[in-house]
Amino acid sequence: LLRVRDLVKEFRTGARVVKASDHVTLDLMRGETLGIVGESGSGKSTLGRAIVQLVTPDSGTIEMDGKDISHLRGAALRAHRKRIQMIFQDPYASLNPRARIGRILTEGPIAHGRPRAEAEARARELLDLVGLKPSAMERFPHEFSGGQRQRIGIARALALEPEIIVADEAVSALDVSVQAQVLDLLEDLKQRLGLTLLFVTHDLRVAGKICDRIAVMQKGRVVELGSVEQVFRAPREAYTRSLLDAAP
Ligand code: ATP
Ligand code: MG
Repeated sequence: LLRVRDLVKEFRTGARVVKASDHVTLDLMRGETLGIVGESGSGKSTLGRAIVQLVTPDSGTIEMDGKDISHLRGAALRAHRKRIQMIFQDPYASLNPRARIGRILTEGPIAHGRPRAEAEARARELLDLVGLKPSAMERFPHEFSGGQRQRIGIARALALEPEIIVADEAVSALDVSVQAQVLDLLEDLKQRLGLTLLFVTHDLRVAGKICDRIAVMQKGRVVELGSVEQVFRAPREAYTRSLLDAAP
């Protein structure tokens, strides 16, 4: 579904150059959950952000349906962004505190030309799908718990009917039992809606629960890529072993 080839992205702060993405190559297959794991600063978010087109790579390509989407602009960019949506780590920071949930869930679709009534009807369906009441439409983000806010973040991502969801540390801020609920929800939605998931996390245990395949990143490079079984049972890289050993 998505082909990433030789993706390079450098950041300069003063004289220091950080290779956040160092020739990253991987494929995201339709219907799978691909985990991106690695230590802090290994380039996971940069990769996720490049895929949702929040970051423009220095070189390399990201192809969807055989077309490079990494340098789109204007209307083409907006149209394409719809197909890949992101869920963020901190659902509170990413939901406009002054907007009612109804507006949060409908403004994207309305901007893309959906009639308001249709967008609102869909928003109610989505709330139901993520396990919230329709009355949530009238409420504000601060009236919800962290886990509920993450459900709203998921509903907002789904409102644009994406094919791919990039979840960046989507459950990292939640306590373990709520984490499990949100992971179950993602898994369930993925099956029902036929989504493809790129699941970014520093937590190997979480990745093991939800992912089909795992890419391990170190210093901007993918050092290991394989099925969850393979990566957990027989890691080829010493680095992966050290991550497994460090996991609680
Ligand atoms: P974490 O687990 O802490 O979220 P990460 O694996 O997501 O880490 P990235 O956020 O992709 O890592 O960052 C990779 C490297 O690029 C880091 O060294 C970071 O400091 C640097 N970096 C990322 N974004 C920027 C930016 N906008 N400006 C400057 N440097 C950046
Ligand atoms: Mg990150």
